[in-house]
Amino acid sequence: MGKENSFQNVLNQLDKTAEIMNLNHNIHNFLRKPQRSLEVSIPIRMDDESINVYEGYRVQYNYARGPCKGGVRYHPSVTYDEIKALAALMTWKCAVADIPYGGAKGGVICNTKEMSICELERLTRRYTYMILPIIGPEKDIPAPDLYTNEQTMAWMMDTYSMMTGYSVPGVVTGKPLEIGGTKGRSYATGKGVMFITRRALEYYKIPLKGSTVAIQGFGKVGSYAAEFLTEKGCKIVGITTVEGGLFNPDGLNVNQLLKHVRTGKPLSEFEGKNIEYVPNLEKANKQLLSMDVDVLLPAAMENQITHENANDIEAKIIVEGANAPTTPKADEILIDRGIPVIPDILANAGGVIVSYFEWVMSLQAFLWNERDVNLRLKQLILGAFDSVLSIHEKKKVDMRTAAYILAVGRVARAIELRGLFP
Ligand code: GLU
Repeated sequence: MGKENSFQNVLNQLDKTAEIMNLNHNIHNFLRKPQRSLEVSIPIRMDDESINVYEGYRVQYNYARGPCKGGVRYHPSVTYDEIKALAALMTWKCAVADIPYGGAKGGVICNTKEMSICELERLTRRYTYMILPIIGPEKDIPAPDLYTNEQTMAWMMDTYSMMTGYSVPGVVTGKPLEIGGTKGRSYATGKGVMFITRRALEYYKIPLKGSTVAIQGFGKVGSYAAEFLTEKGCKIVGITTVEGGLFNPDGLNVNQLLKHVRTGKPLSEFEGKNIEYVPNLEKANKQLLSMDVDVLLPAAMENQITHENANDIEAKIIVEGANAPTTPKADEILIDRGIPVIPDILANAGGVIVSYFEWVMSLQAFLWNERDVNLRLKQLILGAFDSVLSIHEKKKVDMRTAAYILAVGRVARAIELRGLFP
């Protein structure tokens, strides 16, 4: 999680927004804390018969607007503070997208690269069992995040269903198609990033065709964003992954690169004219973040753009595919330097928007086709962009603050309307 405390960063942004909005002091206080948190220990029998005890969390940040929604991540750097921060971001994200959810996040401290598939299954089932009392289609609906995927969701759904006695597909989203998943969910975040990037380029009067893009991270978000942006005529001039970076000023052949990466081949073996491969991750990221490009797309982890490198950024705009990739100090530097940042809670909302469609379909045992899903995604995410933009222009605040004003305002209104229990 780097040197920064992400939860403190999220609180700083909330405090800044509350001041600008003149937010009711009681609601502000209420929004500074998660409504419910669960810490669980997860004992697992490993393949060698030894027992490891993992630590996990599920944080429901705020559910004034509806059932909680948010992913589960498996990563060695997971902390309670990180999960709280991400749960808060989910609350704002769902409010910006105007979907009827509160926000949550879960995480387990583990290294999936060192675990077998059977160990991962046991970990997932026991974690699901431990958080069972607080999840459910009407309570809190997990989804994939870093190092979790469709298979993880299938195990979660099965464990919940076994405990209930019948199939409950609405308990998770991001499921495999065969058990109630939806077409368009796997690439939804990347598609949403493309819609947002296209609209942002138009707004900042940068021609889409031939625009240059640098992408940090080539996973579920970065790789699909690269694919869709390439389809629209953008040039992907650099990418980094945990293996290092690939650069090509003429644009990487994204279709070939996707095939290469998806068949599990190492980045270093990707060949082509004018390609530069940088094996050292730190060096590769430094090079990527300082590229003179139209769009910089951080699509990996938190706290990547910091006060230490924000002055080196030469991109015309930044579109946040990852959650919380920019620290508040870096944000200030970027605002001073006039580099617009399209914030995470808007730019990467495509995933949770399509999760919402999947949930609705699971509850109704109904199927929309892929075209409908993508059309509705486009409508919702561009509608959110327009709402944020109008606050940005009217209140003369940066795009992140504008998105927060929209989100916090919506959550605050829900709290007011519901009143205080008892
Ligand atoms: N993990 C994704 C996010 O951070 C998706 C969450 C969901 O679909 O519930 O937005």
